[in-house]
Formats: sequence, structure tokens, C-alpha cells
Amino acid sequence: RVKEHGRNSVRQFIPEMGVTAISRLNMEGALRRGLDRGEFVLHYQAKIDLRSHKIIGAEALVRWQHPQIGLIHPIEFIPLAEETGLILPLGEWVLAEACRQQIAWQKLGLPALKLAINMSSRQFRQEDLSERVAAIFSATGAQPAHFILELTESMVMQDVESTLVTLRALKNLGVALSLDDFGTGYSSLSYLRKFPIDELKIDKSFINDIHENPDDAAIASAIVAMALSLGLQVVAEGVETKEQVELLLGMQCHQVQGYYFGRPMDANSFANRVQSSLAGERDE
Ligand code: C2E
Ligand code: MG
Ligand code: MG
Ligand code: MG
Repeated sequence: RVKEHGRNSVRQFIPEMGVTAISRLNMEGALRRGLDRGEFVLHYQAKIDLRSHKIIGAEALVRWQHPQIGLIHPIEFIPLAEETGLILPLGEWVLAEACRQQIAWQKLGLPALKLAINMSSRQFRQEDLSERVAAIFSATGAQPAHFILELTESMVMQDVESTLVTLRALKNLGVALSLDDFGTGYSSLSYLRKFPIDELKIDKSFINDIHENPDDAAIASAIVAMALSLGLQVVAEGVETKEQVELLLGMQCHQVQGYYFGRPMDANSFANRVQSSLAGERDE
């Protein structure tokens, strides 16, 4: 189940782009220019609390709005951005943009939504990560308490001593920390206790067949129980059906994300969605 974020994705990129002769070098140049030209956008996917049926937050997911090719998904460019180091300026742009968006939404009168931001392993390994993150919060005026940084198990398990230092520094800023794609990596469970983590996100590969695969259901249920007894928030990713929702409710997993509740969408569509769900509540 470990995700393949390998070199193959560069090759996959070619047919999907409908371009036959784009070399890795061209792709790298295109990414660099895309950053300079402001071709990246964030889409937002709702995070729902099943008890209140409210949108309690959103995950920011980066897309590349390429002028010729159209919208390119992160699987197509994050691996190369990571390899080339372009993920560092891209990652800073993502956080800054999410901060600007959060402030814009507050000005519009939207309720305070927690925004989740994905971090890459290269970003996470920067010596001065917490200073860089703090600088973005102070430059944009956003409040760290409105943000969750999503990390993966493989990232935090790489060098647990330095991980602990980084996690503590980030927590001191006031952001929440989440372990994304939980269950697909190799975390030593004892670190869940040592690391100042706030949330686990159960990987969607366990949720997909939860209604017909008892092993997947057992794993999901065990992750929920463990999270709750450690005092962590727990979120199920990739929820697509009502059956999945009902099983998750039975497991006491109350926070969900998935196509059943909404796909990732551009900022304006997301704001409309939040506003109409608030209007719906008033009408009830
Ligand atoms: P992730 O953080 O695990 O994000 C969840 C992915 O699952 C998103 O794909 C989302 O669109 C998709 N998804 C959500 N609900 C469902 C569902 O019900 N069914 C299915 N099949 N999929 C669902 P997306 O946006 O293509 O992002 C893929 C991955 O790219 C993310 O996985 C994350 O690892 C990475 N990524 C996205 N944005 C960023 C970013 O700003 N920085 C970094 N470093 N990585 C990012
Ligand atoms: Mg994520
Ligand atoms: Mg995930
Ligand atoms: Mg993922």
C-alpha cells in the first residue's frame, strides 16, 4: 500500500499531457516558469463533522493551471518538484496562498475554517522550517491556530530525533499537526505518543472497500479506537458512499473528507458551498 511517488510519474506525465516530446528538463523549466508566472492554484476540499453535518475545515490541494495543457494534478508534478527542490518555493507559495485565502474568507464573513496544508518531506527536513513558516504567518497576518500541517509517516519516521525538534517548534507556533495517509507507512506506534501530533487521517485505501473487506474495516476501526484513546482527532479520507459513512459513524469516526461530501473545488466555489450550507442551517 505504500505510495509510489517515484520517477515513473515523470513518464506518466507525457501521455496525459498529450505532448509527445516533453523532456524532464523541459518539464523542470516549465515548473519553474509556472511558479514565476503564478500558474499554480489551490483547490479546497471540505472536511465534515458527521455529528453536526457542518463543514469544519478544508484541505488545500495544489493544482497547476497550465496555459496550454489545462489543469494538472499534483501526482503529475509534485515528485519532480520534490526531486529538483522546486517544492521549496512551491510549498511556501501554497502556505502563503492559503493564509491569504483564509483572511479573505474571514473578511467575507465566513466562519473560521481550519485549513489543512500538505507538507513535502524536503520541506519538512529544512533546518529553518519553523522560522520559514512563522515568517509566512507574520507576513500575511494569518493566525497559526487556523492551520493544520499534514505530514506523512515516512516523513516523521526518517530521523525521529530531528523530527521531534521540528514538530515541537511547529507546535510552538500554534499550528496543529496531522499524520496524513495513516496506515500506509511504517510508523512505530510508540512515536504517536512521543510526537506532539493532533490528528490522524486514515488513508483512503482502507476506506475504499470498508463495507466488503473485513480486514480493511478492522484496520480502520483499530486506527479510530487508537486515535481516540490517545486523545487524537481522527479523519477518514476518500469517503464516497453512504455505506462508508454509516460504518464510520459506527466506529465513532466523526470527521470525514471525500467525494460523497464534495470534491476539491476552486476557492470561490468552496466559499459559495460554505455560504449555502450556512443558509441551509438558518432555513431549518
Ligand atoms: P492527500 O493529501 O492524501 O490528499 C487527498 C487526495 O485524495 C486528493 O488528491 C483528493 O482530491 C483525493 N480525494 C479526496 N476525496 C476523495 C475520494 O472520495 N475518492 C478519491 N478517490 N480521492 C479523493 P489530489 O488533490 O490529487 O492530491 C494528491 C496528493 O498530492 C495529496 O494527497 C498530497 O499528498 C499531494 N499534494 C496535494 N497538494 C499538495 C501541496 O500543496 N503540497 C504537497 N507537498 N503535496 C500536495
Ligand atoms: Mg493531505
Ligand atoms: Mg491523504
Ligand atoms: Mg495522498
